[in-house]
Amino acid sequence: MEKKKEIVMSGIRPTGFLHLGNYFGALRNYVKMQDEYECFFMVADLHSLTTHPDTKELKANVHRVLAENIASGLDPDKAALYCQSHVFETSELYLYLNMLAYTGELEKTTTFKDKVRQHPDNVNAGLLTYPVLMATDILLHRASLVPVGKDQEQHLEMSRNFANRFNHRYGNVFPEPIAFNYGDKLLKVPGLDGTGKMSKSENQNTALFLADEDDVIRKKVMKAKTDSGPTENYSQKPEYIENLFLLMRLVSAPGVIKKFEDDYNNCVIRYGDMKKQLGEDMVHFISPIREKVNGILSDEKYLKEVMEKGAEKARKSAKATMVLVKEAMGLNYY
Ligand code: ADP
Repeated sequence: MEKKKEIVMSGIRPTGFLHLGNYFGALRNYVKMQDEYECFFMVADLHSLTTHPDTKELKANVHRVLAENIASGLDPDKAALYCQSHVFETSELYLYLNMLAYTGELEKTTTFKDKVRQHPDNVNAGLLTYPVLMATDILLHRASLVPVGKDQEQHLEMSRNFANRFNHRYGNVFPEPIAFNYGDKLLKVPGLDGTGKMSKSENQNTALFLADEDDVIRKKVMKAKTDSGPTENYSQKPEYIENLFLLMRLVSAPGVIKKFEDDYNNCVIRYGDMKKQLGEDMVHFISPIREKVNGILSDEKYLKEVMEKGAEKARKSAKATMVLVKEAMGLNYY
């Protein structure tokens, strides 16, 4: 008998254009995993409401994220590619799991504390229970592998806690999901200013978007922070320089990377040349994706079909889980 495939789940919020952090932290793994596992990938529109209550741009953003997933290589015939709000069971499981989450642990979550600082005028309850909604998305499919960037590590730990707590109280329904990357560690793609993570919501000028035009890419890369270079052979790289090398390792050929590593170690590096090369390699990487996205976006009928097909697959899986959940909880009265 064929072994049952492990289940994979992840999502990206439709809060703006996708950037290289989303690509290398999440999308790249999605594309690889779709051939090996049973995959569920969603556009996390409900999550975006926690920080982006204005929905004027939502439809366009949902379409864009779908198109950017597909242009990056995701095949809607292999994976379930769907929109979170189309899977109504999400709201039901979210409610049950909220009863198992303690306000104390939610208030201590790093992302919650960050968001409170960033949006002091909109500290809504949805923001507090964001990790519960994220656990819901994963547990709804009884997924065990979650391809995400390093910023999601703590949320995954919370998902495991909620799964555990449910299993302990009501009976074994959920596997304990783990954060996944094909490399050995989870990835954090830095911004071009050398600090923090590349992000679509903040630091727009320091993020490289899959939608950026060639000249914009070149300009952003040329503005990345550097200095006058090392003065001692094999000296340690400052964080902003290490980050530039990290970006180069993502898109440049091994020979190119080695040349600039050697130049750095021998104190002859010219950062202007390095950034020029990196800019060209980024253009080479991003422009085919950008062009594909534009083609997909112009076909609304196709996007609708993708969403419908994805929702159908996702709801089938969600419904099967909810039967087990209600049975375990004793919420079956007939
Ligand atoms: P953002 O933080 O840009 O708003 P999301 O919260 O929608 O993006 O995250 C979508 C996915 O992209 C998640 O798996 C997240 O871990 C990953 N991701 C986001 N930024 C980065 C980054 N700079 N490096 C690596 N992965 C990232």
